[in-house]
Amino acid sequence: MTVELICVGTELLLGNIVNTNAAYLSEKCAALGLSMYYQSVVGDNPKRLEELLETAKERSEIVILCGGLGPTQDDLTKETAAKAMGKSLVMDERAREEIQKYLVQMHHSITENNWKQAMVPENALVLYNKNGTAPGIIMEGETCTMILLPGPPGELIPMFEQQVYPYLHKLQPEVICSKMVKLCGVGESRVETEILDLIEGQDNPTIATYAKTGEVHLRITAKAEDQQAAMRLIQPMEEELYRRFGSHIYTDEESVTLEEAILALLKERSLTLSTAESCTGGLLSGRLVNVPGISEYFKEGYITYSNEAKEKLLHVSHNTLQTFGAVSHETAKEMAEGCKKAAASDIGIGITGIAGPDGGTKEKPVGLVYIGCCLREKTYVKEFRFRGNRSRIRDCSVAQALNLLRSAILEDTDK
Ligand code: ATP
Ligand code: MG
Repeated sequence: MTVELICVGTELLLGNIVNTNAAYLSEKCAALGLSMYYQSVVGDNPKRLEELLETAKERSEIVILCGGLGPTQDDLTKETAAKAMGKSLVMDERAREEIQKYLVQMHHSITENNWKQAMVPENALVLYNKNGTAPGIIMEGETCTMILLPGPPGELIPMFEQQVYPYLHKLQPEVICSKMVKLCGVGESRVETEILDLIEGQDNPTIATYAKTGEVHLRITAKAEDQQAAMRLIQPMEEELYRRFGSHIYTDEESVTLEEAILALLKERSLTLSTAESCTGGLLSGRLVNVPGISEYFKEGYITYSNEAKEKLLHVSHNTLQTFGAVSHETAKEMAEGCKKAAASDIGIGITGIAGPDGGTKEKPVGLVYIGCCLREKTYVKEFRFRGNRSRIRDCSVAQALNLLRSAILEDTDK
């Protein structure tokens, strides 16, 4: 079943407000198994809305409109949509009573234009509004149904959840469920190559890849009569992904981040951690402390931007800095080992690199980053050559530091 969304409001066109209703409604319609092919934003202008509705009602079975149901002169959605459906407006007594009740309860005085909101298209289903004055409206036509919702999210969301979702669910009994599988330490192109056969053969469930900084997310989506049946379709695909990618998968939960998955590993193995950052200047420790409960495992974070700081706080040798430079394999190694020792932690991570835009040379270009990770007696160091601006290079460095940290923990057999 096809659905189309029209958000009404000049404020949206001017960028004064963010169209969060569109994001919310799109997600809900997708979960309901409805196919949304078009979305539009139109200002508070009845002529342009009228034109849009003429097109929408021809090409979509359901048209959802949001905004412009208020009491003022510029709120014209209801009048315009009723006209498009060939319906006249009539007073709805219950809506009138509800509006009066709401305004008295909120200690608002009633003005004449409030009654405009109690006018509804003839034969419409009225969605009474517990959180405001504008009732929502469902107008059923022969080939197209229009659903009108108030703009304020505090009114739209409960109205959708309590009244529109059940209505649409009856029209479209299938549900869409999805599961996210998140990978790290493996590039997007390799992931795509390894699942090419799954992508090419996909029908139900389908699989989609999303490249994130230092991570790849795979979403498995299935359509079925209910959630359990959809999950039964998803499960074999998920198992196949685990067979192919093994420990590269750090979670199969949508809300879990890489740093959260790492905290779970630190907890499981009772390992403590410290960091020494040069070019990322605290960005790594910032991501780590995003996770509640990290305090028992994250001991110290050093920002050692200058050579002096690297020597003074981490005991990176003067000779290493002179011979190999601050951005080098050797310095990253000594930073990792130095912070581990200074903080008396089990793990130390060191990051040093050139984030740009200046400071690059032919031998050491912008984007060159060394990351060291020392776990107990073993130190791993990796060289990276990132592209992009300063902020991207710093984000990539943090993502790869987390990857290196995770793989070092997984390789550690001395539990
Ligand atoms: P009101 O009775 O408040 O006038 P309305 O149904 O006429 O409600 P609008 O006038 O279009 O709705 O918008 C009222 C407010 O609702 C906006 O100022 C904005 O805060 C919020 N809003 C409207 N549309 C959206 C949207 N698409 N996404 C997020 N917020 C929105
Ligand atoms: Mg309004």
